Amino acid sequence: MPRWGMVVDTRRCIGCQACTIACKTENDVPLGVWRTQVRFYEKGTYPLVRRHFLPLLCDHCDEAPCVEASENNGVGSFYKTKDGVVLIDYKKLEGRTKKQIETETQAAIEACPLEAIFMNPMTMMPEKCTYCYHRVSEGLVPACVQTCLGRSRVFGDLSDPNSPVSKLIATNATRTLMPADDGGGAGGHYITLEGGLLDYGALEGGRQIDPKDFEEGKLSMTTGPAMKGHGAKKHGRKK
Ligand code: SF4
Ligand code: SF4
Repeated sequence: MPRWGMVVDTRRCIGCQACTIACKTENDVPLGVWRTQVRFYEKGTYPLVRRHFLPLLCDHCDEAPCVEASENNGVGSFYKTKDGVVLIDYKKLEGRTKKQIETETQAAIEACPLEAIFMNPMTMMPEKCTYCYHRVSEGLVPACVQTCLGRSRVFGDLSDPNSPVSKLIATNATRTLMPADDGGGAGGHYITLEGGLLDYGALEGGRQIDPKDFEEGKLSMTTGPAMKGHGAKKHGRKK
């Protein structure tokens, strides 16, 4: 039985966001929400400035807070597979009311320290990174890994000492995004994770939107933030 995991070498990430786009395409992730993204911060003063990138995704935690919250909520739709991937069992949400699904999703969202769960504004169902389980089950790597231009993301079997991920962990200093006592220390292993990058809440990058923002008119699915009273500019000469 494999134990799936990912090594992210932040030295190799160029912030191209190809992974973010590949994930959105592969998994039909709408605007305003994400299963993975790349956050950044800048350090130094001109001319010695450097931008640091942090590819961010679900950590597939050992003691996953989202799974615990989902169990405590009495629905238990979040679970961890034997091969180490935290997934959502949508069968457990069938026949539930909108309110029950919202409560289940909100419990998991609040439990996750990485902001890795969101309510899909199109399906009104919870969603998160699955390590592209549908691809991995067919012997492929996740879409973000497949497309990673910098070869920053590497995926494989952590229980196999000869896998690329195990070799990277054996030959580099790595750390996990979340400390083990927060439930972390599972799937994601980072090389040269800068101290500043651990403050992922303070990094530049899009937050998950709340579907209620669409209902309340604060966001538009086609134009982004609603600009009340500011319609699209009409180009053309005044007569
Ligand atoms: S990172 Fe968040 S979504 Fe992923 S397993 Fe941990 S708590 Fe759940
Ligand atoms: S595709 Fe790779 S190099 Fe580009 S932003 Fe994503 S992790 Fe970084």
